[in-house]
Amino acid sequence: MFTRPAAAIVPMCVLAFTAPAVLADGPFYGAPPDATHPWAVHDMNRPQPPLVKPGTFSTQDHPGRPPSDAIILFDGTPASLAKWESDKHPSQPTKWVVKNSTLQCVPGSGYIRSKEEFGDCQLHIEWAAPSKVEGTSQGRGNSGVFLMGLTEIQVLDNYNNPTYPDGTAGALYGVNPPHANALRAPGQWQIYDIIFRRPIFKDGKLLDSGSYTVMLNGVVIQDATPLEGGGGHQARSHDRPMPDKGPLKLQDHGNPVRYRNIWYRQLPARAVDGGDMGAMPPEAATAKKHQIATTLREDAAKLQGLAKLRRQMESLCYAPDAATLAESQAGVTAWIATVKQTPAGDMEAKKAEIMQMREAVNYMTHFKFFPDEFTAKSQIDTIIEGNGWKK
Ligand code: MG
Repeated sequence: MFTRPAAAIVPMCVLAFTAPAVLADGPFYGAPPDATHPWAVHDMNRPQPPLVKPGTFSTQDHPGRPPSDAIILFDGTPASLAKWESDKHPSQPTKWVVKNSTLQCVPGSGYIRSKEEFGDCQLHIEWAAPSKVEGTSQGRGNSGVFLMGLTEIQVLDNYNNPTYPDGTAGALYGVNPPHANALRAPGQWQIYDIIFRRPIFKDGKLLDSGSYTVMLNGVVIQDATPLEGGGGHQARSHDRPMPDKGPLKLQDHGNPVRYRNIWYRQLPARAVDGGDMGAMPPEAATAKKHQIATTLREDAAKLQGLAKLRRQMESLCYAPDAATLAESQAGVTAWIATVKQTPAGDMEAKKAEIMQMREAVNYMTHFKFFPDEFTAKSQIDTIIEGNGWKK
């Protein structure tokens, strides 16, 4: 398992850093990067989340508007039918029809699939079983949402219609029943919000089974349920590799189920899949830290004075470098010398700069990025005490 250096578990009370009035660039606030985390806690060098304009919620009468970065697979227009094709004969258009701005299964016409292929995603899809109730058990309002064409989240009208639980609406079919039956009556729109993660294998070894998180009409019915191979009919499935992406398939199970408002958003890669969410494999974290350090050193080369010095110090929090360490220590030493020569009457004007330097040097010393024998911290503290700035 991954090991964490002691610095990562220093309680916040020991850090004894206070929030600056204006957050400066850099890591000088929370616990520093460690073996598996390439960023410090509260690191301002971490990229800001991309902006997404949220959509609106659906009502029974009107589908909601997707968020701004959604990829639309069906928006109610006949034109969006062109984004789908027959599953059995992929080069042929689907025989499903667009009726009253909904995509309707024509029984006997076969599954359909999106021309778009995708893997890990947030999928939004709304469906309605026929309002005329016909059939029982698996024969009533049956369809299905197949992520990557391989693993089914069941679509079924089991409103007052018992059937095997791992085949009810929102089941990971054949693997796990939904946590609740939150269906509306047949004919009404049911809303699935699905978070799908495909399985991850590396060198034949399972790293992540993959999972489904599903909400039905706003109720969580699958909570990171492991795929265990994705399920199936009658046979028990087992963890297995899957492709990186595949088409979304909708099932023709002989019932005229309707769909509307189908869109997805790609999800960022998990750490085991080359992403940088949370704890990363140590080799990947090290590579990322070096990348950050390199960028900061390139940035430092374009800067002057205190800003340059800070960038150099920042870079050392991500990856050591003897030349940068020597240059930044020499820079701090030279800066202290100029401060010491500053006339007493001009010191107040330098207070902000001195406090900012103290923040960085304290951090560098506390977390051992500067060696113990480097005495800049105590020299800066002496200057601060001498000016009566210490609380
Ligand atoms: Mg089905």
